[in-house]
This record gives sequence, C-alpha cells and structure tokens, in this order.
Amino acid sequence: MMGGGAIQLSPVHLGEEEERLVLEVLRSGRLAQGPMVERLEAAFRELVGTTHAVAVNSGTSALVAALQALELGPGDEVITSPFTFAATLNAIIEVGATARFADILDADFTVDPRAVEAYVGPRTAAIMPVHLYGHPADMAGLAQIATRHGLSLVEDAAQAHGAKAAGRAVGSFGLGCFSFYATKNIATGEGGMVTTDEEKLADRIRLLRNQGTREPYGYEIRGHNYRMSELHAAVGLPQVSKLPDRNRRRAQNAARLSASLAGMPDLQVPATAPGRTHAFHQYTIRVTRGAPERRDRLAARLAELGIETKVYYPRVVYDYPCFRSHPQVRRDPAPRAEAAAREVLSLPVHPWLSDQDLDRIVEGVRSVAHSGPRNVPG
Ligand SMILES: *Cc1c(COP(=O)(O)O)cnc(C)c1O
Repeated sequence: MMGGGAIQLSPVHLGEEEERLVLEVLRSGRLAQGPMVERLEAAFRELVGTTHAVAVNSGTSALVAALQALELGPGDEVITSPFTFAATLNAIIEVGATARFADILDADFTVDPRAVEAYVGPRTAAIMPVHLYGHPADMAGLAQIATRHGLSLVEDAAQAHGAKAAGRAVGSFGLGCFSFYATKNIATGEGGMVTTDEEKLADRIRLLRNQGTREPYGYEIRGHNYRMSELHAAVGLPQVSKLPDRNRRRAQNAARLSASLAGMPDLQVPATAPGRTHAFHQYTIRVTRGAPERRDRLAARLAELGIETKVYYPRVVYDYPCFRSHPQVRRDPAPRAEAAAREVLSLPVHPWLSDQDLDRIVEGVRSVAHSGPRNVPG
C-alpha cells in the first residue's frame, strides 16, 4: 500500500476570497436576500447564459419553486428519471403532481428520450431530466419532445454546474435547478438557484421565494420562504468564477482514471456523449459482474486503503416503502436503472486530487481485480 492520508470523495476547499466576502457580510448588517445574493445571481446568469437566475435556499427548493412557477399540481404528470436523489421525486410529490419514470440509457445514466416520449399522454405537463453525476441528459432530444407535445422542461441540474449539451449550458433549456449543497461542484452548505429566460416564470419564483410578496405585506400569491442568506451567497460567489478551471481539473482527473481503468474485466468507466461536456460531479464506474456483492467488496477494499467511495444510488428512487405505494408515484419497470443501482460505484475525482492520489485509486481498484478468484462469486 502506498502512503498518504485518506482520499475523500467530496472535500470542501474554501479560500481567502470566500472568507473575505463572508466577513464583508458579517460587517454589513445585512444577513438575508441582499446585495451579495444579487451578485451571486448575476454571476450565475453569466455562467448559464440565461436572462434570469433566482437564488433560493436549496436545490430542493429550486425544484419545488420551478414546478410551482409552472403551476403544476394534482392531475399533472411529470416524467423524470428513476435513477436519482429523492429530492427530484419529493419536489414532484410536494406540488401535488404525479411522477412517472422513464428508464435510463446504459451509456450515461440519464433518461432515454425514447422512453420519455413513450410515456407522454394527455396528463403529461413536464419532463424533468436529471443530469446525473454531472453528465447532461440528451437535451436536444428532450427539447424536441417537449416542443412537439407542448411540455415544460425542468432540468434537475443539481449535480451539473457548468455542464453543456448541444452547445448550451445545462439549465438554459427550460427551468434549470441547481444545488449548492455542501458536496456539489459549487458548495455553500445549503443553497440553490433557478435559471430561466422567461421573465414571467422568474418573477413568479421571486414571489414564491418571498411569501408571495414583492413589498412587505403585499401578498399576491401563496408563497413560501425559499430565500438565500447573504452568508451563503458570499461563500458561493467566488466559486462561480473558479468553476470552469475546477471542472476542467475534474475532467482531467476522470480522463486519467479512465486511461488506466478502461479495459479492466467486468468494469466500465464513465463515457461522455458526443457534443456534451461532463461536469464530473462524480466519476462513476460500473462493476458489471457479480453485482452488487462484487461492487460492495471493491468499495470495502478501497475503504481499507483509505479511499472513500459511495454508491449513488443503491436503489431506484421509487423502490422505497414510502414511495412504492404512494398515490402520486406511477411505477413502470425501469430495468436499466435497476441494474445500474446494483453496479455503480463513485470514485474520487475532485479537483484537489494529486497525481499520487489518482495512482493510489487506480492501484486500489486493480488490487481487487487481480486478487484472485476468491473475490469472484460463482
Ligand atoms: C443534491 C441534489 C438535489 C437537492 O439539492 P439540495 O440542495 O440538497 O436540496 C436534487 N437533485 C439531485 C440530483 C441532487 O444531487
């Protein structure tokens, strides 16, 4: 075993700029929804290329606010991915709509546009792709389907800051929903953003964010408190300009891992679809034989070597008692997503990995593959 400390999956690195801006906020006497939030919104508009970016207090709030802005509710169906974090589904359920799940593509873990279109019916109101691990869904294909059937597009871009598809940033195809949770490519602890080109929707999200009011006690609609704090905005702002470099580092690290791991038996490295830019929030391999036991043994072995890994996600999202029989969840079989849940393992790919860290990860994975038949179930 090589030397060195533990290699984390999602370490947090904040610098002097973040400290300086947080201090500026602390000294300003303005703690919520002020000039720092507006600066973050301006930086994010620039990043995504939309005319509006509305900051909120989490990625989940971003998803809920987006669906509420579209006035989705009971009777409306939203087609999404079964291979996602619970927030995607919780947002649909929260607004009263019904979730349907289109199976994913084996190649990149995002929804298969043909599976999406097969579920479009009279109740379908929106398509909600998830850019899982930072890989953009097929937005060109999904946008065509949305246009053909008059559907809204809500992108769960919580893991995909800076990713691109069809020459555009994710989050610019409809309503884009981003998270700044502590592990994301931009991390403020908690926080989120909704991006859109539509003035009306942006205005509505700003209203929803602030109890349905523009002015104190001038309630126009039923709202909520989705406001971001100035402190969180201060932590996020410097990271927006650092994002392109950091995403490039992630992609370089991914390329290095793949150069060494590709071609190993029963192991698949992540692919990037042509014309798309992967944000590599996660670098996720598939252990294709002996799943999930062999995958779990690899994770355990890497943990022994001080290499943190994680399974995102061990089950498809509808496969939990609280969702399985939920009246707003329509479960259609998604065998490709279910297979992925048994096979995936995310390895560290973050921008602060050294060459030596990357070598340790590769050697760790190889040591399991080469450690003989006792590790291979019959
Ligand atoms: C993180 C995440 C969310 C939710 O974001 P929060 O900021 O944690 O509320 C939603 N969807 C996906 C795919 C995520 O990874």
